[in-house]
Amino acid sequence: MTAQLPIRDRADACPGALQTHSAADGELARVRIPGGLLTADRLRVLAAAARELGDGALELTSRGNLQLRGLAPGAEAELGERLAAAGLLPSATHERIRNVLASTLSGRTAGGVLDVTPWVAALDAGLCADPALAELPGRYLATLDDGRRDVAGLGGDVGLVALDAGTVALTLAGAGSGLRAGPDDAVDLALAATRAFLAERTAQASSAWRLAELDEGPARVVDRVSASMRVPRAEVAGLPRVQVPPPAGVVPQTDGRTALVVVVPLGRLTAEQAELLAATSAGTLQVTPGRAVAVPDLPDGSAAADLTAAGLVLDPASPWLRVTACAGRPGCAKSLADVRSDAVRAVADGTLPAGGARQHWAGCARRCGRPRGEVVDVVATPAGYALS
Ligand code: SF4
Repeated sequence: MTAQLPIRDRADACPGALQTHSAADGELARVRIPGGLLTADRLRVLAAAARELGDGALELTSRGNLQLRGLAPGAEAELGERLAAAGLLPSATHERIRNVLASTLSGRTAGGVLDVTPWVAALDAGLCADPALAELPGRYLATLDDGRRDVAGLGGDVGLVALDAGTVALTLAGAGSGLRAGPDDAVDLALAATRAFLAERTAQASSAWRLAELDEGPARVVDRVSASMRVPRAEVAGLPRVQVPPPAGVVPQTDGRTALVVVVPLGRLTAEQAELLAATSAGTLQVTPGRAVAVPDLPDGSAAADLTAAGLVLDPASPWLRVTACAGRPGCAKSLADVRSDAVRAVADGTLPAGGARQHWAGCARRCGRPRGEVVDVVATPAGYALS
C-alpha cells in the first residue's frame, strides 16, 4: 500500500528552544518536556524566563511541550543558557526531536497495567545518545501508553502500549505493528523502530516529517527491526485504537493520595499561574496532551479552590475542556481575527458557535493546533466565522 499523504516541499522548520520561529509577535521557542514530566524548580525557571524574556506566559502544546512567545531577537541565547543550567536542554543537537508523550499520572491512578514513567527518561536518554538520531524531523513523536490508551491514539510515529504486566506492543504511525517486547526490552524496541524510521526515510530519499508519509513506512520499519533483532510477533488485529479523554479535576491516586488535573484555558499559562502550580505541587508535575497540568501526590484536593480562583479549571464540565484555538492575532500574521479573545468572549457569554461540541477556533484555513478526533472547526473568514 502506498501512503496518500503530503509531499513535503519545504524544509522542516519545526521550532525548538535554540532554533526559534519568527512570529508576528516576536520569536517563538518550543521547549521539549519528554513525558510532560517537570519538577517544580524547572517550572519556576520556565515561568521566570517567560516573564523576563517573553510575553509573560507559557503555551502548552498538544505534545506536552511548552512554548515561550514574544522573545526579542537574540534572547534565545540567554534562554538556552537558562534551560541548560536547569537541566532542560540535555542535548543541543537533539533538542527538537525529544517529543515523547506518556500516559497521564502513570503508576499513580487506576487503569494502567504498567508504570511507563521510567521509560520516559530511558527513551529520552537513548534518543539523545545516538548522534544519527539528530537527523530525525522535529515532528517525530513517540507515545508511551500504560494500557489506558490515553496517548496510544495520538498518532505517534513510534509507540509502546502495555498490554499486560509482561507484554508491550509496538505501535507504528499510531497503529499496531505486531511486534512485542517485555517491559525491560520495550524501550530498546522503540529505539530500534526509531532508527529504522530514519533509515527508511534516508533510503527513500524522503523529506517526510512523519512515518505515515513514507511509502509503506510502518511495514518497512517492521522488516528492518525484525532483521536487526529477535522480536516476538503477534497478529496486528486486536490492538484497540480508542482514545481516552484526559481526566480533569480531583483524581484519587491508588496510594490514597490525590492528584489535581488542572486544565489551562486555551493552553496559555501565565507566569503567575505556573508559579502557583509549582508552589501547590509536592515537587513534580506533568503537562498533558490535553493542555492541562497534573499535580500529583497531594494529601487532598483542598488546593483546588486557590487554583480555580487563579483562572485555572478543575471542573470536568467546563467548556474549556472542549475549546481550543490557534495563536491567531496578534501572534500570527496570517490570522484574520483575534480568535483567542473571541473564544474567551464566547465562553464567558455562553455563545460558543458549536454549542457543546469540541471546537477548534482558527484564524485561517490552516487550522494549526487542531486536536485529533471529532472536532468542529470555527474558522475566521473575511465574512466572519465559518463552521465546518
Ligand atoms: S491557523 Fe492560520 S491564523 Fe492560526 S496560527 Fe495557523 S496560520 Fe496562523
